[in-house]
Amino acid sequence: MIGIYGGTFDPIHYGHLRTALEVKEAVGLDEVRFVPCRLPPHRAAPEADPERRLRMLEIALQDAEPGFRIDTRELNRPGPSYMVDTLGSIRKEIGARPLCLIVGMDAFLGLPYWHRWRELFDLAHLVVMRRPGTASDVLGELEPYFRERRTDQKGTLSHQPSGSIYFVDVTQLDISATRIREIFKTGKSARYLIPEPLRRFILDQRLYLSS
Ligand code: ATP
Repeated sequence: MIGIYGGTFDPIHYGHLRTALEVKEAVGLDEVRFVPCRLPPHRAAPEADPERRLRMLEIALQDAEPGFRIDTRELNRPGPSYMVDTLGSIRKEIGARPLCLIVGMDAFLGLPYWHRWRELFDLAHLVVMRRPGTASDVLGELEPYFRERRTDQKGTLSHQPSGSIYFVDVTQLDISATRIREIFKTGKSARYLIPEPLRRFILDQRLYLSS
């Protein structure tokens, strides 16, 4: 079973890496594909260019958990990086194998703003990373989908190619790429928030110095 972990990764940090590992173990994924987006549709353009964000992913994933991979298809595709296009293209390659799109709770609740969001359920399961103890009230347009598709049975994910919603409780590490960029801008140390070789790369490249 393959998991897709999308993001800007500007830069990748331990919040991404740790949650990816916990989801991999909880769901029993064979592979987690980190998919850096070229142009995020719903937010400001990333600060680091696509080549450097890819390089940072490669550095962070050296000696990584087995099964962690990078998928560059969004970087190679012009225009906004819509997840529905990405999953469609992966689906063509993998046939009927189960596919899980890994998203944070915030991203999940914002799903109705995503391009052609209803089609996502035809292409993948949604695995939602939930902070333990937090509410998971789902309202509005998403609510009927949630009611119909939510499962507590992990087995459902491996027995069908797509269509279910499954929650995984993950350790919430209060780390964000925004905060890490801020740390570099102010000349403080990002040690222990990101892998050390990545920290050195960012310093060498003089990334995130200007706002
Ligand atoms: P930024 O601060 O620039 O918004 P970010 O740290 O949220 O960046 P992204 O690359 O945008 O990083 O994140 C991709 C996905 O990773 C998001 O869907 C988000 O839910 C998840 N994520 C990011 N940081 C964490 C974290 N500390 N714990 C759990 N999930 C996270």
